Amino acid sequence: MMPLSLLIALILAFGMEPPRVGIPAPDVGVRVLKTCGGVTLVAGLAFGLGLWVAVRVSQNGLATLRLRRRYALGVRLLTVVSLVVYGWIIHGVGWSRVVRSNWGLRDWILLDDLMVLLPYLLIQLLNWWGLFFAERSLQIRADSGPASRLGRYLVLRSRQSFGLILPVILLFVIRRDVLARFWPSWNDSLWAEPLEIAVLGALVLMASPLFVRLAWPTRSLPAGALRRRLERVAHRVGFRFTDILVWDTGGMMLNACVTGVLPGFRYVLLTDALIETMSPLEVAAVFGHEIGHVAHRHLLYLGFFFVGSLGVLSLLADGVAAGVAVLARSAWVPAWSPLQSGAAVEAVILLALLGLYFWLVFGYLSRRFERQADVFGSKVVSCDLPGCPPHTDLDGDLLSQPDRARAVPPTLCPVGIRIFAEALATVARANGLERTWRSWRHGSIAGRIAFLEGLRDSEHERRFQRGVRRLCWALGIVLTLALFTACWLSLSPLSVVLE
Ligand SMILES: [Zn+2]
Ligand SMILES: [Zn+2]
Repeated sequence: MMPLSLLIALILAFGMEPPRVGIPAPDVGVRVLKTCGGVTLVAGLAFGLGLWVAVRVSQNGLATLRLRRRYALGVRLLTVVSLVVYGWIIHGVGWSRVVRSNWGLRDWILLDDLMVLLPYLLIQLLNWWGLFFAERSLQIRADSGPASRLGRYLVLRSRQSFGLILPVILLFVIRRDVLARFWPSWNDSLWAEPLEIAVLGALVLMASPLFVRLAWPTRSLPAGALRRRLERVAHRVGFRFTDILVWDTGGMMLNACVTGVLPGFRYVLLTDALIETMSPLEVAAVFGHEIGHVAHRHLLYLGFFFVGSLGVLSLLADGVAAGVAVLARSAWVPAWSPLQSGAAVEAVILLALLGLYFWLVFGYLSRRFERQADVFGSKVVSCDLPGCPPHTDLDGDLLSQPDRARAVPPTLCPVGIRIFAEALATVARANGLERTWRSWRHGSIAGRIAFLEGLRDSEHERRFQRGVRRLCWALGIVLTLALFTACWLSLSPLSVVLE
């Protein structure tokens, strides 16, 4: 749920302490200037991109697909540049050192963390400001909603992104400042870090519905045909939820999501643009996709995946440290080589390996899960007639007994697959995505549609579901083993020998 770039920024700022953070830095003025320069550079790029798109739209009179594609690419590049610049501000310029040591904010609760994060917050705000001009001209809905005013738009985007990091920052502060003050021995404990991260993850997962409601302007989906349809879908597949919420984005976003692991505390969010652009059947298909994530327990598994990956991270760190040490000692590495200076090289190699691990493993897992949710979404709008087509709409008001609960598990039918594929195509069109564009976490729209079309006979589907189950089990065993090995290594006297 939390924007990935924000998570990376938090790791850059707090996950890896820059060197000599406790000693006051010389030339504070130059460092502040450099920081401002970095922020200005990103802002310049954002305004350049936003205004360029706006000018092009007004010249052409319409937003072409080509322009949307370039804009989407530009936004991605801007995100990367923002993170690189912020990483440079923290680790190159030494911003956290200036904040903590030179300005003496070290002992302040929360204030020092906010100051360390401030350049990133500024970068984000200026990015949105610059991109606002493009977003307004590319707006999904033709009439200009309330978000077409800059102030409203900035508040909306800030609430969306920063509302969600609130729990993380709070827990982080509790961990560092409060625990350190009242329980000083805690930080020395070997178990402190993994345990904290596990507890933190669980708390964030459980509290996220609350924070989502705080962070995003939402209202309950009003009673009517659409709500009746969605409730019937949920009833049919045995999905329990607290409420269905309309997420007001001023018509700027076409998206849906589900929050909360516990049934008593679970919301399905559909954006205003999604409800306005899609047919009720397509909305039901998207709703089914979100239910699919819950029915297949994807959130829980991903939580487990992140905890288990700590074991992998720990083993990787040990391995890299040992490897660098061996290389540094070997005869063919010259004395001036950066390998001799240890820590920095280790950090770079470790980061690269970690990035690769997430890129490959998390990316693959995530794409499998999306496919599984797609299948579920298609099933929800499928009928159980053996000879479909002709197709029956099971959740419409026209059916004589719409609320009849069916004992048979939902099956795929060709029309259901078509409805879901149409919904995917609408999402792609509205977000200016080319169908063949591959997304790291979702795969390409064309690929998803082709995959669903290939599942028409039930044997194919069974084989796919079996494959995902096996993947989860195999990965689960590997991660558990990694976690146990890492714990065992850190506790046993062997680690002393290795070091
Ligand atoms: Zn999904
Ligand atoms: Zn059908």
